[in-house]
Amino acid sequence: MHAHPELSFQEFETAQFVSDRLKDFGVIHQSGVAGTGVVGIIEGKNPGSKIIALRGDMDALPIFEKNEASYKSINPGVMHACGHDVHTASLLGVSWILNQLKDQFEGTVKLIFQPGEEKVPGGASMLIKEGVLQNPAPLSIVGQHVMPLLEVGKVGFREGLYMASADEIYLTIHGKGGHGAMPNLAIDVIAIAAQVITAVQQVVSRAADPKIPSVLSFGTVIANGATNILPNSIYLEGTFRTMDEVWRANAHVKIRQIIEGICSSFGAKADLEIRKGYPFLFNDPELTRKMKSSAIDYLGKENVVDLDVWMAAEDFSYYTQELPGCFYRLGTRNEEKGIVSGVHTPTFDIDEDALEIGCGLMAWLAVQ
Ligand SMILES: [Zn+2]
Ligand SMILES: [Zn+2]
Repeated sequence: MHAHPELSFQEFETAQFVSDRLKDFGVIHQSGVAGTGVVGIIEGKNPGSKIIALRGDMDALPIFEKNEASYKSINPGVMHACGHDVHTASLLGVSWILNQLKDQFEGTVKLIFQPGEEKVPGGASMLIKEGVLQNPAPLSIVGQHVMPLLEVGKVGFREGLYMASADEIYLTIHGKGGHGAMPNLAIDVIAIAAQVITAVQQVVSRAADPKIPSVLSFGTVIANGATNILPNSIYLEGTFRTMDEVWRANAHVKIRQIIEGICSSFGAKADLEIRKGYPFLFNDPELTRKMKSSAIDYLGKENVVDLDVWMAAEDFSYYTQELPGCFYRLGTRNEEKGIVSGVHTPTFDIDEDALEIGCGLMAWLAVQ
């Protein structure tokens, strides 16, 4: 699976592979849900009594893999650099295990092989729109994600707020270009952008409730002038992340007011788009406590850690807005073997011992 990565919403071979394996196992499933999604059902005894959904995402990233492993990507420029191959493989393992045990547990397990986690609007929101949380409707949902910061053999949990909402900021400031020696005849977008970048930080430092995590960063600033040329326009891209939906909406208004206000006060025009990404991720406290204590039974207390808040985003958050969810982390790090690279890097890799835990623990959690 690692050698055959496919980009978001193009997981055709991956979905076929998943479907073929589920067929081999004898698991009833539906393909082509929201494009490339696959949804399986395993019914135990008394199948309507309780229903849990398990989710694994399937998509890869546009990165050239730099590892020299035997399972290196054979699709140039595409790489499973976020471990979604691990999540899919684990969920297949879970399907294989639980299907053999189905006369030994009560209830139904819904297996969600999800496309497009890495790309807005996110496969989760599309699957929800297509009714993945109905017929039958799960009472809770559990997902796992690799964590290269966490040693292999360990897993991590956090109750309540865990990950941030993420919105994208696209801004072009239009002014008037001219000679660098005669700024009085121009509208200098460079000087205006400098003010915008500084002033808009006040949204985080002054307008935000200090108790709510917020972050605003610009990662792109492009202006094609020269030492003596003031350009006509400048282009900026940034991200705004937080963990509160009311504040998120208010922050968008404030960001717009500051940017448009500064630009118009200097005679420039702001062309601003704030594109909404995923919402924040909330781990249901009761469910997460239960999953954590079950993980302790399975792996031992020393191998189950508490996680800190993380300002990255993840589309599993859409499920957690609909029903109690628990998103936990699977340790994949091994310093002795040099497996330390972060997700979304060309040298990301895992200690494969994590695969056994990824399957076994998730199957155990589902049954619990
Ligand atoms: Zn990712
Ligand atoms: Zn991911």
